Amino acid sequence: MPDIARIHAILKELYPDAVCSLDYGGDPWRLLIAARLSAQCTDERVNIVCVPLFEAFPDVYAMAEAEIPAVEEIIRPCGLFHTKAESCVAMSRQIVERHGGRVPDTMEDLLALPGVGRKIANLVLGDCYGKPGIVADTHCIRLNGRFGFYDTSLNDPAKVERILAEIVPGPEQAAYCHRMVLFGREYCMARRPRCAECPLGHERLCTYGREHGED
Ligand code: SF4
Repeated sequence: MPDIARIHAILKELYPDAVCSLDYGGDPWRLLIAARLSAQCTDERVNIVCVPLFEAFPDVYAMAEAEIPAVEEIIRPCGLFHTKAESCVAMSRQIVERHGGRVPDTMEDLLALPGVGRKIANLVLGDCYGKPGIVADTHCIRLNGRFGFYDTSLNDPAKVERILAEIVPGPEQAAYCHRMVLFGREYCMARRPRCAECPLGHERLCTYGREHGED
């Protein structure tokens, strides 16, 4: 089994201040909305779109009352704007009606919100409520397979989440996943990973490069 403690120690040195790349100002509801908009869209574009979106609908109560076409018009650049607008309004209504306007802090209640899956729920639990949460996105799945925590052919986010939840200490899970994103962009890209320069490869913490002729 790879040395998770050493791997994370190196990632901490590389990215000491790893935080979510979505701008949400510490507001769980804004993170929910931004995360919903980020499906098949870059975080950079979501951050741009969220500026006018949160000007027009600054809180959960305003979004709960919003007309869907008005939301669609603003979030159009994010793609899938019709279903995303429906989710934003519906999840906000549910938060107001069932949770008194506060984003819930349990997996069960988060998953009951329209448009919220495990990835978004774990992001909110980890970043906003300090709870364990593995965000099994494409970087997380690819990198941890290459590290050797499971077979690289595994592409099931729920299984990856279960495996990593056992390996990564709870309080470190959110930051570990944010570091996966940064490391996946800088070193361990899907195509042509930079194994020759990779600090994990140098310490033999990851042998994927050697085994696949990438270094
Ligand atoms: S050695 Fe290569 S495959 Fe392994 S973590 Fe580094 S860049 Fe990724």
